[in-house]
Amino acid sequence: MIRQADLIERVRKYDPGVDEDLLNRAYVFSMKAHGSQVRASGDPYFSHPLEVAGIVTDLRLDDTTVATALLHDTVEDTIATLDQIEARFGPEIAQLVDGVTKLSRLELTTGGSPQAENFRKLLLAMSNDLRVLLVKLADRLHNMRTLSFIRDPEKRRRIAHETMEIYAPLAERIGMQAIKEELQNLAFAELNAEARKSVLARLEYLRMGGADLVTRICEELERTLASEGQSATVLGREKRPYSIWRKMEQKNISFEQLADIMAFRIIVGTDADCYRALGIVHGAYRMVPNRFKDYISTPKRNNYRSLHTTVIGPEKQRIEVQIRTRNMHEIAELGVAAHWTYKSPGAEKSIREYRWIRELLDILDQASDPEEFLEHTKLEMFQDQVFCFSPKGDLIALPRGATPVDFAYAVHTDVGDTTVGAKVNGRIAPLRTELHNGDQVEIIRSKAQTPSPTWQGFVVTGKARSAVRRFVRNQERTQFADLGRAILERAFEHTGRELSDKAIGNGLKKLAAKSAQEVFEKVGEGVLTAREVIEAVLPGEKAAWRLGLRSLAGAFSRSRNPKGGDRAIPIRGLIPGMAVHLANCCHPLPGDRIVGIVTEGKGVTIHTIDCESLENYSSSPENWLDVAWSVDEESTDFHVGRIDVILTNEPGSLNAMTTVIARNLGNISNLKITNRSPETFEFLIDVEVKDVKHLSNIVAALRADPSMHTVTRVRG
Ligand code: MN
Repeated sequence: MIRQADLIERVRKYDPGVDEDLLNRAYVFSMKAHGSQVRASGDPYFSHPLEVAGIVTDLRLDDTTVATALLHDTVEDTIATLDQIEARFGPEIAQLVDGVTKLSRLELTTGGSPQAENFRKLLLAMSNDLRVLLVKLADRLHNMRTLSFIRDPEKRRRIAHETMEIYAPLAERIGMQAIKEELQNLAFAELNAEARKSVLARLEYLRMGGADLVTRICEELERTLASEGQSATVLGREKRPYSIWRKMEQKNISFEQLADIMAFRIIVGTDADCYRALGIVHGAYRMVPNRFKDYISTPKRNNYRSLHTTVIGPEKQRIEVQIRTRNMHEIAELGVAAHWTYKSPGAEKSIREYRWIRELLDILDQASDPEEFLEHTKLEMFQDQVFCFSPKGDLIALPRGATPVDFAYAVHTDVGDTTVGAKVNGRIAPLRTELHNGDQVEIIRSKAQTPSPTWQGFVVTGKARSAVRRFVRNQERTQFADLGRAILERAFEHTGRELSDKAIGNGLKKLAAKSAQEVFEKVGEGVLTAREVIEAVLPGEKAAWRLGLRSLAGAFSRSRNPKGGDRAIPIRGLIPGMAVHLANCCHPLPGDRIVGIVTEGKGVTIHTIDCESLENYSSSPENWLDVAWSVDEESTDFHVGRIDVILTNEPGSLNAMTTVIARNLGNISNLKITNRSPETFEFLIDVEVKDVKHLSNIVAALRADPSMHTVTRVRG
């Protein structure tokens, strides 16, 4: 185990201003919190956060991140709480620990999800501070180093698979070459032990040329460069079994040459030195054609820069050479972590404030070819996305602003159509709730449920929108047809005939309709009038028809029956935007005496019988329709009633007015000052009420208040 003092020494090497006290406190806190817990290896659990902190110092991250690494499992695995962490270590470290904890929980819920790319994006999106991701990668690296201690082979495999699919590519994405390679090799050993063994055996065979071949080649390269006056450090290494295997897999080749298993790096001082060194190498050895790449003038998208070439080098071996400066080398090995280098305190601060996305976009800025550009856009696109989970752990990607209804339709149209409610993270939430990254969404369904037209007001996905619209349109057609049938039934009665599909069938040609159903719909929608249908179906009935209508229009104004006549068409299910609308002029309420006016293309608009605007329709009695309320007593639907209130202009009177309305369970949905004078204020108020009785109660209660001058219901 790394000792407390050693850890601080490691940080001091790259950051002389290290906060020793912070690291000491984090060390002790974590050690105490983990107490007697042990790892699968039998080691004390505390060895794990300590090793993770060690990896973080290899990446030369700041002391805040090192402390986070020490504390990263305390909230998830011990009785320590985030509040305690915040109280002792401040909000920054608390936030970082919280981020790592959340990423770890994500891991548990999803297992070996095949949607690796989405998952990687989710991890990135959730790491709002890139240091969260760096600690998470260090955590994963140590867990992979100790993977063999886990007894359950299934679990080992799952972790290795996840590492290969998610964490190694993530490390590559942020340019951390060394961690990526180690993760891949550790996962490779678990996932394909046989392949790895054969690669190792082959390496053994090729190494027969001498164990110190790498060293000999390094020395000769250094000598060659020095003889031309170029000082350089040459590093040589064998490639890792996994990258050799990948090459064999991808290119379908076997490896024969040392060039396939060895890589040499020439480290020099400046960019110009790189090209000088390249010239010297090409001058001394024969270059292999088509292997030269200049990533200095055109860096890779993860900011990797180097010159690559292959030559027939020392010992007549084909070797691959990478030429780079020290700085390029650091960036290649550490990736974004290299940005946290400690040149100046000011620079460090500004880098801390960088959002992770800016760092990544900086890297991606270098994108030059179409594929890289695509990567770039993909990343920007996912900024507009949220990633949510089903209870089974399936990942659903949705646009930002998406709601549980969008989620339901993304799962399946049937799920969307039968949605009645939703649980977000285990709690019942309104269907219009905006979903966030990482939310777990459970859809509550009922076979009896149908999509609600109100969903159109908040869904954001095309799939949900079109499904709801399609449903509403069907519903509308059905309602138009029902309404049209009711209108025609009544009209037929006036002629003494009975309405039937067959009777309508006779007039289809004249009416340019394909079926009786279509005739009903058109009548309900107001495209055809009842008269036109009667005239088409029953020629010669004109006179009787007109007579019947006149008596009907007259009957409305005399009627004293609030429930309407026996032949009244029942009005229920007042769904906005459908076949029946409530007039905006008079705001009819359940209980009001009402009349329907058929308008072409709109269906029926309901007015109160004393609405002034009915004057406009007095010359077209064929558009009048006898309607009556059919309201379910249990209904919790609310309707908007409008009242005009003149209020004495004195302190507290507005308060008195709203209090009276509220006490009578009226909900104000709109309020407008229409007139003001030194003595009085006049308001137009829309109140949501159950029915006309409810509104009358409110009006009466207002009139009883001394501050109210005049209170009247507004119609027309
Ligand atoms: Mn851990």
